[in-house]
Amino acid sequence: MAQKQHTFIVEHLDPELEEWQSLEYKAIHRECQDSGAKFILSGLKDAGAVQKQLDLPIETLQEQSVEALYSTPEARSRVCLLDPKGERDIGPEDGDLFDVFLFGGILGDEPPRDRTGELRNKGFVGRRLGPEQMTTDTAARVTRIVVQQRKRLDEIEFIDRPDIELSLENGEGEGKQPGESVSMPFKYVKGEDGKPVMPEGMVRLLVDDMDKGIGDLL
Ligand code: SAH
Repeated sequence: MAQKQHTFIVEHLDPELEEWQSLEYKAIHRECQDSGAKFILSGLKDAGAVQKQLDLPIETLQEQSVEALYSTPEARSRVCLLDPKGERDIGPEDGDLFDVFLFGGILGDEPPRDRTGELRNKGFVGRRLGPEQMTTDTAARVTRIVVQQRKRLDEIEFIDRPDIELSLENGEGEGKQPGESVSMPFKYVKGEDGKPVMPEGMVRLLVDDMDKGIGDLL
């Protein structure tokens, strides 16, 4: 059976577009491309400026909000909001129920401030990805594994709140004493190498911001 093409939409809800989020959005875009899904970044203030910053195809960058893009109740019924307070966990069957999977483009906070709530009351059906908070790219990655590879959440290997080594063997950390690490308060997919799957360039960003203090990023 031909793989149904899903659309993954991130509604950018933060006032700025931080480097951290740029890396996440690029990772989501690439993984959507590799898996035949469509990616849209919506709710942008200035799509042209974001294109320069992210170097993503202009058709993926929307200044309209997801609410405007899916304005009728019928269209909205095909949109699934990934919501930490969703009424139930996502399952493979949701890949048939929904055409669009929507995520909040929000920097994770610890503890979460439920900013996803800004999208919850827009009439989208909510699904949860388990109780722990994920980064936006991890949420998109897990959703794609469930609805495209038809895996249940409990069949996916995760790493919860990992300590990320900011040391030389990462091949990205320079000048850090071996063994220095930062604890990330999120749940990640476990990669083939047994490490948490993170956007390309994220470890370097963490190393660079280690000097500025991790607090700036959360
Ligand atoms: N702490 C933020 C969430 C940031 S995570 C908040 O205040 O809501 C960014 C997005 O990833 C969320 O908006 C949601 O779409 C998705 N997400 C993260 N963890 C999730 C979970 N456990 N269940 C469902 N969606 C989740």
